[in-house]
Amino acid sequence: MISVRIIQQTPDDMMFILSGTTAAFANTLRRIILSNVPQLAIEDVIIVENNSPFTDEFLAHRLGLIPLRSDSDFLVLPDECECGGVGCSLCSVTLTLSVETADEGMIVYTRDLESQDPMTVPVHQEIPIVQLGPQQKIILEAVAFLGIGKDHVKFQPVATVGYQFMPSITLDSNKCSDCKECQNACPRNVLEVENKQLSTRNILNCNLCQLCVDACEDDAITVSGSEDSIIFRVESTGGIDTERIVLKAAEILKEQALEFEGLLKELPLEK
Ligand code: SF4
Ligand code: SF4
Ligand SMILES: [Zn+2]
Repeated sequence: MISVRIIQQTPDDMMFILSGTTAAFANTLRRIILSNVPQLAIEDVIIVENNSPFTDEFLAHRLGLIPLRSDSDFLVLPDECECGGVGCSLCSVTLTLSVETADEGMIVYTRDLESQDPMTVPVHQEIPIVQLGPQQKIILEAVAFLGIGKDHVKFQPVATVGYQFMPSITLDSNKCSDCKECQNACPRNVLEVENKQLSTRNILNCNLCQLCVDACEDDAITVSGSEDSIIFRVESTGGIDTERIVLKAAEILKEQALEFEGLLKELPLEK
């Protein structure tokens, strides 16, 4: 039976240990998080005026990559919306940008974007968008939609997501010369060897790199990954809390499994 033990959880970072399952399951969860969990991003940009150093296309591209914070439970994917995906209050949020310089230039930041929905704002207010020179102007309307990472990376809700097997480190005191070379070689400061006895500081920091094993001339230390226990890490871009990302991925996985089961049941049985 699968069990989950949460080691660390904040809106931006989450680490948990999955036991009683396989790497295939962890990888499926990872792929769904990357490809199928919807995230909001700017998709359409209507440029009214732009004499900045950036072309319209470049400006639109930069706007598309700005992480947006939104309670996306209230929004639906455009192709599931009753408007047919053209954009309405159920599937889109509009942000506007209107800036103009006089004799001095300025940097336009994400905080200069005005959202029609106060709940939908850039995750960070200080991301520079473009530097304007004197007498330059940008007026535009940007429409954000939900999308999925399978279609474009800007819709991925995570900066990173990954897993590794739980490290298992052993030291053979009969072979160990207490030279401490393994301890010095570890880039994660995981190991401590004292009187030929091994202790670990935080074994979850071990990335199974094997540098300690390579550093040991006496063949006294071994590091392996336990396939029964998987460390899973998620780092959000800030648009959606990590807990919601993982729950949504589990929900999508369940829906896909049920759909597959339904399709199988419709197939004629082999006699
Ligand atoms: S490098 Fe090998 S011999 Fe030296 S302390 Fe580590 S395990 Fe012992
Ligand atoms: S495998 Fe790498 S990270 Fe893990 S204890 Fe050895 S040197 Fe450190
Ligand atoms: Zn709509």
